[in-house]
Amino acid sequence: MAKCVYCKTEIGDERAVDVCNRCGIKVWGEKMFQAIIDNMGNAKTKGDLHQGLINIDTEKKSKI
Ligand SMILES: [Zn+2]
Repeated sequence: MAKCVYCKTEIGDERAVDVCNRCGIKVWGEKMFQAIIDNMGNAKTKGDLHQGLINIDTEKKSKI
């Protein structure tokens, strides 16, 4: 299983970058990270990621 290069969290889905959603958004920003994943054109991964992004977005808002 792939691990995030930043926080060593295991990445459950297959993707071309070994970066978890949380770190990806931290590094590239939400829109940029989304675009990077979208560009990979993996529909399966995309569906999972969209869910992840929604969760992270909610987390962020509750902190502010
Ligand atoms: Zn990470």
